[in-house]
Amino acid sequence: MDFKLKWLAWEITRRCNLDCVHCRSASSLKSPAGVWTLERAKTFLNDLAGFASPVVVLTGGEPLLHKNVFDIAAYGTAKGLRMALATNGTMVTDNTCQQILKSGIQVVALSLDGASAAVHDNFRRQPGAFDAVIRAAGLFRKHNIPFIINSSFTKRNRPDLEKTFMLAKELGATAWYMFMIVPMGRAKEVLDELIGPEEYDRILRWHFEQEMKETDILMRPTCAPHYYRLVREWAREMGIKYRRRSLAWSTGGGKGCLAGQTIALVDAFGEVQPCSYFDKSAGNCLKTPLSKLWYSAPLLLRMRDFNSYEGRCGACPYIKVCGGCRARADVLLGSDLDEDPMCRYIPPGYEGGLRNPLD
Ligand code: SF4
Ligand code: SF4
Repeated sequence: MDFKLKWLAWEITRRCNLDCVHCRSASSLKSPAGVWTLERAKTFLNDLAGFASPVVVLTGGEPLLHKNVFDIAAYGTAKGLRMALATNGTMVTDNTCQQILKSGIQVVALSLDGASAAVHDNFRRQPGAFDAVIRAAGLFRKHNIPFIINSSFTKRNRPDLEKTFMLAKELGATAWYMFMIVPMGRAKEVLDELIGPEEYDRILRWHFEQEMKETDILMRPTCAPHYYRLVREWAREMGIKYRRRSLAWSTGGGKGCLAGQTIALVDAFGEVQPCSYFDKSAGNCLKTPLSKLWYSAPLLLRMRDFNSYEGRCGACPYIKVCGGCRARADVLLGSDLDEDPMCRYIPPGYEGGLRNPLD
């Protein structure tokens, strides 16, 4: 596997005007903004463009709260990087859309966590948040800005999952990425709301059947690495070929978990994490440039050493196509090299059983 950085989430501010139940960075309006001045951001982008050419997703918090968000995007674009923006949609106006286009941002990601105001606003703890997403999607369509929709689920909004997918299609999204919350940030407070492994597999089966017949919107579960095992098994059982369409702007590639292998997150304070849901720092890129950390930080190197994985993942023939969620192993089992507790597969010859604290 080629360990080039291909996708980077960059939290340019920790502040957010919402206070969502599941927020991985526990952002709110009271959060500190972080350290990313325009000058620091430019220095960072110079280093980044010098060693990699990833998609760079400006995120937060709410990135539109950063006064230089479009200067940062324009600078990245000028450096030849493919810039993207992830927003909760509440601050999007005609003027925002014009600036998105002017700064060279190529795609926007919106979050939609339910098919009605009642469900989405409850999840986001903000009346009006749903209407804001619908309005933002309309503005993106009007300005011909491609957008994708990310939807996160727990038991709370699970009943809306299929309807949320249909709504993403109706809104004109180019892709829909479904995500089962990884417990970090505020999501740690709602552990009992997390969807367990059996239900997770049922949802993935629905996704597979939908994906096989879908010709319009692109879809893929985000951070469900064992989906790559399941689709192979299901396609084999059904005697069909799993038809993969190329994805737009996702972290996905030929393998399930890419944390620290081809993707990373840089947080509002410069800490580098293997992915957005992995609460460990590989080092701070304000002290050591990312170009150096990427090839030397022990945490990142560990993610790439599949032979060091443990438990069922360590014994699994699918290790190179799946890899198991390292963040879930870390939070739920206490080691980032352990097995992914959301997967129910027992590899041939493996003598242990399943260990899932959520069951
Ligand atoms: S045991 Fe681990 S590597 Fe194997 S399919 Fe499950 S999560 Fe993936
Ligand atoms: S560690 Fe988990 S959340 Fe992070 S990239 Fe891998 S599958 Fe996704």
